[in-house]
Amino acid sequence: KTWTLDNIENMKLQQKALGLSYDWDREVATCKEDYYKWTQWFFEQFYKKGLAYKKEAKVNWCETCHTVLANEQVIDGACWRCDNPVEKKDLSQWFLRITEYADRLLADLDTLDHWPQRVKLMQKNWIGRSEGTEFSFEVPSINERVSVYTTRVDTIYGVSYVVLAPEHPYVERLIENAPNKAELEAFITRMRNMSDIDRTSTEAPKEGMFTGSYAVNPMSGEQVPVWIANYVLVDYGTGAVMGSPAHDERDWEFAHKYDLPIKQVVTCEGEEYSLEKWQEWYHEDGILVNSGEYNGQTSEEARKNITAALNERSIGEGKVNFRLRDWLISRQRYWGVPIPVVYCETCGEQLVPEEELPVRLPEDIKFESGAVSPLATSENFLHTTCPKCGGPA
Ligand SMILES: [Zn+2]
Ligand SMILES: [Zn+2]
Repeated sequence: KTWTLDNIENMKLQQKALGLSYDWDREVATCKEDYYKWTQWFFEQFYKKGLAYKKEAKVNWCETCHTVLANEQVIDGACWRCDNPVEKKDLSQWFLRITEYADRLLADLDTLDHWPQRVKLMQKNWIGRSEGTEFSFEVPSINERVSVYTTRVDTIYGVSYVVLAPEHPYVERLIENAPNKAELEAFITRMRNMSDIDRTSTEAPKEGMFTGSYAVNPMSGEQVPVWIANYVLVDYGTGAVMGSPAHDERDWEFAHKYDLPIKQVVTCEGEEYSLEKWQEWYHEDGILVNSGEYNGQTSEEARKNITAALNERSIGEGKVNFRLRDWLISRQRYWGVPIPVVYCETCGEQLVPEEELPVRLPEDIKFESGAVSPLATSENFLHTTCPKCGGPA
């Protein structure tokens, strides 16, 4: 705090010396109480509308430094400061439900007349709206159904494998009786500790392992192997994807690497399909072949009809998906705006009454190694009364 305020003073002097004509009466600093009172006030309005909520989420954790690291501070799976391997750890954290506004964020890009096209496109891709089908594969060995989401259900007859994220809740049971269980476990741990950015980067090598179990293609009835791979993330979509390698470049690479069958199910007039080399038209819409009763239909017709067929059997439905995720606003450090929420054993989470804001960041704290948080060392901050029942909180 001292350092920040000193720097503000110094930089103000420099800006005045440069002759910049700011109206210093309107100066605000987000770390000052008179400002963050309103940060807390906004939080409370969001909370009341159900737009601020708490859930468990994974963070990068360095066991040596006892701290959370940003993705950019994880270099090849290791801490930038001490080089020790970084773990993924679940922490309870606050989020703002921005996904509630995904459609409006997207639609209103059209109203931004003077924004560069490039920036609007980036925003659009970041929101990432897609129309597709969510449906499930039966996995008899564990007596469960694995859900997948795809925008290309017209290629379902070409599915030659199903891939789960290493964190998928069924993984543990799937590999329980595998003869190479230890090897699978080592692989899963290694994949889990990779950053999401490394896992999904187009340059990163696709790595996978067969679980020993099979899934049943709900349309063709074929048994296809269930794999675990690094490029599937548990919090995107359903945490599992279908592999239809003849018509998806990523699946194509994966199938080539692990010798999985590649079966063409969409054709384009006048084009020759070859297993030797990926061609751009492979992922485009066309006419269905090798697809049972759907042969001869266009991709668009087939998507509609196959989704309807899955829906009739109550194992699938059309679905709109977004890439956009809720915004994690918790920071795992002491210097920040306290969340104005009191925890009472009887009443649960309670907002601090508006007239009592701001909740001040305490300064009677100790930085102890191994402490959960410096905030927990301030008796005044830690112990308070519940605004609802008046009991200790
Ligand atoms: Zn470290
Ligand atoms: Zn209470």
